[in-house]
Amino acid sequence: MTLRVLSIASEAAPLIKTGGLADVAGALPAALAPHGVEMTTILPGYPKVMAALGKAKPVHSWPSLLGEPARLIKGKLGAHPLLVVDAPAFFARDGGPYADGGGRDWGDNWRRFAAFARAAADVAAGAVKGLAFDLAHAHDWQAAMTPAYLRYDGVSLPSVMTIHNMAFQGHYGADIFGGLGLPREAFAFDGVEYHGGVGFLKAGLEAASAITTVSPTYAREIREAQFGMGLEGLIRSRGARVHGIVNGIDTAEWNPETDPALAQRFSVRTLPRRIANKRALEAEFALDSHDGPLFVVITRLTWQKGMDVLLEVVDHLVGLGGRLAVLGSGDAALEGALHAAAARHPGKVSVRIGYDEALSHRMQAGGDAILVPSRFEPCGLTQLYGLAYGCVPVVSRTGGLADTVVDANLAALAAGAATGVQFNAVHYSALADAIDRTISLYSQTDVWRGLQRAGMKSDFSWSRSGKAYADLYAALVEDR
Ligand code: ADP
Repeated sequence: MTLRVLSIASEAAPLIKTGGLADVAGALPAALAPHGVEMTTILPGYPKVMAALGKAKPVHSWPSLLGEPARLIKGKLGAHPLLVVDAPAFFARDGGPYADGGGRDWGDNWRRFAAFARAAADVAAGAVKGLAFDLAHAHDWQAAMTPAYLRYDGVSLPSVMTIHNMAFQGHYGADIFGGLGLPREAFAFDGVEYHGGVGFLKAGLEAASAITTVSPTYAREIREAQFGMGLEGLIRSRGARVHGIVNGIDTAEWNPETDPALAQRFSVRTLPRRIANKRALEAEFALDSHDGPLFVVITRLTWQKGMDVLLEVVDHLVGLGGRLAVLGSGDAALEGALHAAAARHPGKVSVRIGYDEALSHRMQAGGDAILVPSRFEPCGLTQLYGLAYGCVPVVSRTGGLADTVVDANLAALAAGAATGVQFNAVHYSALADAIDRTISLYSQTDVWRGLQRAGMKSDFSWSRSGKAYADLYAALVEDR
């Protein structure tokens, strides 16, 4: 029996991407197909998404979707079915999915994503002729009102709510409640009410049949205040209904044997060829060329990612003979501080501000180690790409970083299982110690090769995680 799942996401690669959520939503349909799941993705009709649709005919229309006219259009996300909510009043805007060109959030995001979720709930519940679903799977706060709408519509369809990052919750004032089209009783402690206002993610977590997040460690961490960010009590109360499933990587996109972005392709059997990528990266970043360790960082420049602490250890790293290449964008103060560090250490530290997918591939292929000093990290993808490319991850022990990198302690080294370096807390001395350890491991050529090989052989394809989602869906549909 094929299970029909509607995946509700505010972004999905390759059509629209601002971060890791897009990679996951884009990869899920193919990851689930081998496990008897037909996944249809539903997206908002941003200009980029509409342009990719061409001239498709609408399959449904809403004279008033939270007050605005909207249509539903069928398309394709790669080889898989796609539905698009074409509501020009909400989505036909230049700029990003959530913010204008200047980076300011659209002031009506609550209404835009409530409307999107309202439409998705209608579709999931079978309001559109010819479309039927067994389960709804909502991603992050932008889709989180879908399970809430299903609940207050009295629809018993099972639903899954996935948290990709607890830091983004969609929290608004109580004054928006009247615009959501929900019955009065929904504004309740166990409904959409959250600290006197309305919480989108909170509402979804209350209403969904099951909750998932993107690693087992993060699933445990969000039970505590430091990571739960106000929702820890709710997560604890949902107990066994909270699951952690690690993200996979797209191995067609991220394969050093076939990657067209690289100066020199390589595999676990031809690791010495990697050096050509290191030389090319040194040239691209105007770094001194030598055999000492080259660290890379590829990231959003934010507090979450620990970039302030990275800045504190730059002098230490350079003092030990290391070099550092950073690709990132985000916080202007961090950008400025990184430029200043590069100016202090010409030939040793170099920074590119911006978002550059191809360069990120070249950095994973040419760097010796990738630094990921995140304060919290639900799953993290850059350490997985590092593993696949022989760029040894040096990571804080949190969330998905803790679950996917095996620390090079003596036991793991002896067993040949080590794939990277972990450190406990994101502050100066812990990161400096981790860099010391990394440089010492790097100086032992055979040990370092062993780390690279073990990383490249570890399996972070979607096959295991696809099965985990499929099993969860099947159990929920059976329970119904
Ligand atoms: P998050 O979703 O919190 O930003 P993840 O590690 O889960 O962190 O995913 C980040 C994704 O974005 C990865 O695919 C990473 O390679 C990519 N990325 C982040 N910053 C940049 C950048 N400046 N240029 C290119 N790719 C980037």
